[in-house]
Amino acid sequence: MQHVLEQQAGAADEPVGAAARRRTFAVISHPDAGKSTLTEALALHARAITKAGHVHGKAGRNATVSDWMEMEQARGISISSAVLQLTYRDTVLNLVDTPGHADFSEDTYRVLTAVDAAIMLVDASKGLEVQTMKLFAVCKHRGIPIITVINKWDRPGKDPLELMDEIAERTGLTPTPLSWPVGIAGDFRGVVERDSGEYVAFTPTAGGAQIAPEERMSPGAAAAREGDAWTVAREESQLLAASGAEHDQEMFLGGISTPVLFAAAVRNFGVRRLLDALVELAPAPSPRTDRQGEARPLDAPFSAFVFKLQAGMDTAHRDRLAYIRICSGVFERGMVVTTARTGRPFATKYAQQAFGRDRSLVEVAYPGDVVGLVNASNLRIGDTLHAGPPVQFPALPTFAPEHFAVARGVDTGRYKQFRRGITQLEAEGVVQVLRSDLRGEQAPVLAAVGPMQFEVAEGRMRAEFGAPIHLEPLGYGVARRTTPAWAPTLSAEWGVEVVLREDGELLALLPDQWRVRSIQRNHPDVVLEPLVAT
Ligand code: GDP
Repeated sequence: MQHVLEQQAGAADEPVGAAARRRTFAVISHPDAGKSTLTEALALHARAITKAGHVHGKAGRNATVSDWMEMEQARGISISSAVLQLTYRDTVLNLVDTPGHADFSEDTYRVLTAVDAAIMLVDASKGLEVQTMKLFAVCKHRGIPIITVINKWDRPGKDPLELMDEIAERTGLTPTPLSWPVGIAGDFRGVVERDSGEYVAFTPTAGGAQIAPEERMSPGAAAAREGDAWTVAREESQLLAASGAEHDQEMFLGGISTPVLFAAAVRNFGVRRLLDALVELAPAPSPRTDRQGEARPLDAPFSAFVFKLQAGMDTAHRDRLAYIRICSGVFERGMVVTTARTGRPFATKYAQQAFGRDRSLVEVAYPGDVVGLVNASNLRIGDTLHAGPPVQFPALPTFAPEHFAVARGVDTGRYKQFRRGITQLEAEGVVQVLRSDLRGEQAPVLAAVGPMQFEVAEGRMRAEFGAPIHLEPLGYGVARRTTPAWAPTLSAEWGVEVVLREDGELLALLPDQWRVRSIQRNHPDVVLEPLVAT
């Protein structure tokens, strides 16, 4: 399904102005918090540029974007992680998808290297859940500002002040609600806009298929209509003000506070407010720092980095799609750029934008935009592409693996293919490869953030490299950074193994946190540092 985007086919804009009108963000959440529903609601309220043709309101939810991902999963190939591009007011919003169900993997984390802000979507009845916290930790480490959305307020849930305490305690961020709910969770009547004091009444529509009508009224009218619920909301809002929970743009951008909104995505309520917050508060793309520590101006010649590789979309053609995030300059389809790592040219004839099953050709793109490049088998995760004089951005971080398995070739006669495949998967970031003298080159340890990565590795070793592997799971659940000096001591401990990663990190693998603590007790000076990201 290919269609040229006409509105993008005209003369190119200048990159600084175009960047100022862009917001590139991801939604971080636990499965079932409502990410797909929110994505659809955003597409309903804003105009989709990439034709997210199958993104509907709930009523028409037949073949949605997420269903497409499930199909890919069923076929045992890697999961699409792409961008939904929307325009709202005069701004282009790039929503970069963070695949995150059974397919939760290092890719999910890597997407966060390509965004400038994140929406932390929280289920009102569940609060902050495991996967949300993991993704949050990566955002915090990278200094990505976070807007929090408390979703499903139309259903019974926690007390809003309790939720604020939970956010403060678990994330260390100061929650600064922009809106405050009128009516407890499950009796969602509307919100107080905390800056203007206005009431926005929530009018349910059948199934939430359409944009929910918003009725704005003065505090006086609200008090008359909602009675006690209004009084409580106002009092709570004043309480928040007294405790300093007011939005401050610098604190938000500095990762100290998080603006909070209340919503019911399935009913399309609070979605427009979120779009406004993205336009008004989320940061526009800014100059990215290169390996020399120099910030590359937005109007420098084109540059971008690869944050996601997707293989096997079409197994017959060994198609490889590389997703790049543009950092500077203007991208024009057809331009020939340079791969910084090799100095080789790369032709961008088939640049695409993709979300779910829809692919459309991209003609022009700007800093902050995400573009998919076809025929990208020579590109690797973290590669820089550029026009003009050489520039190289820092390598992408690797993330703390939690799943470990020994890989062995089923057919020992195909060792060459085995080695080539493992090296390639390592270079692409499909799995991390850990080695030790003890295990030898024929039986490296594969490590992953999510077990789905193993399935992808297995499938590709068989189909692409002709070297089927057998994976033997290992009972480790934690990797910690250590030093050569500590390696002998740690290796001698029960249930611990020391291995080397390609980036030179020496990792100690341990069964669980409990074992980490018991070793720390026995060896108070031991080096066992957590690996958030390197
Ligand atoms: P995802 O796994 O995060 O993508 O979550 P989905 O968008 O698939 O939503 C999970 C379930 O929660 C679905 O049954 C949705 O209909 C439901 N859901 C999502 N948002 C809301 C909401 O605001 N209110 C209610 N009541 N249900 C919601």
